[in-house]
Amino acid sequence: MTPIALLRHAPLVRAAQFRALTVIASGSSSVTTTAVALPSVSKNKKAPGVLLGMSELDLQQLAVDFGQQKYRGKQLHHLLYKRKAKELQDLSQAGWNVGRSPIHKMVTAADGTIKLLIKLEDNRLVETVGIPVKYDKGSPRLTACVSSQVGCPLRCSFCATGKGGFSRNLKSHEIVEQVLAIEETFNRRVTNVVFMGMGEPMLNLKEVLEAHRCLNQDIQIGQRMITISTVGVPNTIRKLATHKLQSTLAISLHAPNQKLREKIVPSAKSYPLDAIMNDCKHYFLETGRRVSFEYTLLAGVNDAVEHAIELAELIHQWGPGYHVNLIPFNPVEGVEYQRPYMKSILAFSAALESRKVTVSVRQTRGLDASAACGQLRNEFQKTPFVAGTEVEQPELEMAVAS
Ligand code: SF4
Repeated sequence: MTPIALLRHAPLVRAAQFRALTVIASGSSSVTTTAVALPSVSKNKKAPGVLLGMSELDLQQLAVDFGQQKYRGKQLHHLLYKRKAKELQDLSQAGWNVGRSPIHKMVTAADGTIKLLIKLEDNRLVETVGIPVKYDKGSPRLTACVSSQVGCPLRCSFCATGKGGFSRNLKSHEIVEQVLAIEETFNRRVTNVVFMGMGEPMLNLKEVLEAHRCLNQDIQIGQRMITISTVGVPNTIRKLATHKLQSTLAISLHAPNQKLREKIVPSAKSYPLDAIMNDCKHYFLETGRRVSFEYTLLAGVNDAVEHAIELAELIHQWGPGYHVNLIPFNPVEGVEYQRPYMKSILAFSAALESRKVTVSVRQTRGLDASAACGQLRNEFQKTPFVAGTEVEQPELEMAVAS
């Protein structure tokens, strides 16, 4: 019989109210002990694993499995998601761990954007970015740009992550912990989450949806404040539509026609533009949520007014419910593309607006913090993705939710 549970987390001394538990406050030599012997978990219960990502109901069941009352699970929920506990010592002894990883590197840009490099259990590094906006229609906003994979197998021609190769999919708790790390770093709540960091979310849809559930229900970020971005993976947009989320779907389009798109996004060969547009229309009809088209402006490649006109025609062909988000290219080491001049950006935007396409130009944030997706990780971790080392082959088989 093992005495359980304990927290190595200063503010958690109050968890001594959790009378069944022994509480250890970090940085303190004092140990509050309430001796409680817990029965072992019965054999048919959930195998020990990671606590982060578990719902309140799951945690209540866990408490019951440990012979405790259900409300202990509610307390655990509070500790994980509100108090952001990093260690529950005796639960660790029982084989459970919280699922939080250390910050390997933090880079702050002049505009307040902070990029974190998180070191996962297997030493893989994953990027996450916190983007603060002081006043957005009166209320401060903090956006977490989260990764869904370590690296990415899709190799879009303008992307640092694609150049670094692919290692593995992230687990849902490894996505959720990015948001908690941003909240801790900024010492305030994340208001928006965008799945626009490393990786293609639709190649890891099952874990992305589990993370989405946790972010929405446990961390209480509104579904409308969450954006899932994709370059397009066949069958997954319709799969996502069946979940009828109130989140925004963002399609990384980058070109107004198939031929040009294939040059910029090689994976586009397997998913014709018409098929993507058809699936986006379906998504809009199923969810009522407007689809956003992300369009990275590359000087001399896709930024001519003719491209804007073609894009407007494409969008009108497929009906209402679309928005275009123009993203002036962020320079990436080893990539030849250039950022267009402001004059070209404005002309492109005006050509869309005059054709009644709603458009915004994304403000570039954190340029000096290696802000382009994948850049920071590439600085610190090259070897796992270099040929001849422990490279895992891209796993293009999709882990989509049923
Ligand atoms: S842009 Fe996105 S999908 Fe394309 S290589 Fe980069 S991370 Fe992957």
